[in-house]
Amino acid sequence: MSILNPGATIGVLGSGQLGRMMAQAASRLGYHVACFSPDASPTPCAQVGAREVTGSYDDLEAVAAFAKSVDVVTFEFENVSSAAAETAAKYAPVRPGGHVLHTTQNRLREKRFLQKIGVPTAAFQAVESASDCDSFHYPAILKTAGFGYDGKGQRKVGSAAEAKAAFLELGEQACILEELVAFAYEASIVAVRGSDGSFVAFPLVRNDHVNHILDLTTVPLAGSAEAEALAQGILEALEVVGVLCVELFVTPEGQLLVNELAPRPHNSGHWSIEGAATSQFEQQVRAVCGLPLGSTALRAPGVAMANLLGDLWPADETSAPDWAAALAVPGLHLHLYGKAQARKGRKMGHLTALAATSEEAVQMVLRARQLL
Ligand code: AMP
Repeated sequence: MSILNPGATIGVLGSGQLGRMMAQAASRLGYHVACFSPDASPTPCAQVGAREVTGSYDDLEAVAAFAKSVDVVTFEFENVSSAAAETAAKYAPVRPGGHVLHTTQNRLREKRFLQKIGVPTAAFQAVESASDCDSFHYPAILKTAGFGYDGKGQRKVGSAAEAKAAFLELGEQACILEELVAFAYEASIVAVRGSDGSFVAFPLVRNDHVNHILDLTTVPLAGSAEAEALAQGILEALEVVGVLCVELFVTPEGQLLVNELAPRPHNSGHWSIEGAATSQFEQQVRAVCGLPLGSTALRAPGVAMANLLGDLWPADETSAPDWAAALAVPGLHLHLYGKAQARKGRKMGHLTALAATSEEAVQMVLRARQLL
């Protein structure tokens, strides 16, 4: 593929915080960014200078017009329909390709793909009718196959009877039953594949969730080499061009099981903006524009990232968190995404700290968050 040089326009489907941070990285390299989404203007992405196009992902004419107006199309939101990705691909290169979205936006297709290429996952079974729940072992998790994130559309079930009830409650849509993994902790690895097949990965990181939403990322974790090999196999088999995050369970014995794939920059890679030589967002820009990938070396021995959810905002909306107190913590980096309304569970921003050890970095972000 030829290189798309700075001055070209990167079209992003989606316009949230991931698009915003991608636009910031693209703009630093001299690219223009346009974003497309149904969201209310000005979106987090448009607020940092991206040209904003408001439209539905299902309006294929609008998607086509958007693709015609840019030099390459990428995503910050993966629940875009295959039809939208195919339509865009008629007018501009789409990176990663629609086939990547097709595989990763359905949990069953994703797990079957991983199984086919020999990547370890939790045991699973497709559920198309309630009787499919009879032949599985429990406890388990029943998840809708399509369009789920942050724990939405899933239920923990202790028996076949509970699984059947949950299947009915979820509207009898196609589901996947997964064995409940007694993991020691959750981890992820953000990896990047260039259009020439080049590959780099950030270190393996630990992720702690609260209410199924990422709360804290700790960098780095031991075991990066094995995770990197898994990630490389996945990105190559999927022929990804761009960033892809592999979310993992680490068992008490240290085995890595892949939970899911996110074919885009990921919340567990936000630390890389200050914590790595090249951020995940710049890597996405480099990859989709056909440029060489950057170094993923750490800028400090330990890095941590804590999310800031809407829950931190006072309910009366007349006051705001105490930003000054948090920013008084030396070396702390604050990111806010410019979202107008602070709803419970909504990702509003994050804090990153670099330190001599990851424990110290964790203490810094947690202390700063408490001061808010
Ligand atoms: P997911 O939407 O698949 O990322 O799931 C959200 C969260 O639910 C994960 O981060 C885990 O904490 C938990 N979870 C999902 N699948 C499993 C599983 N098979 N076993 C244990 N916990 C799980």
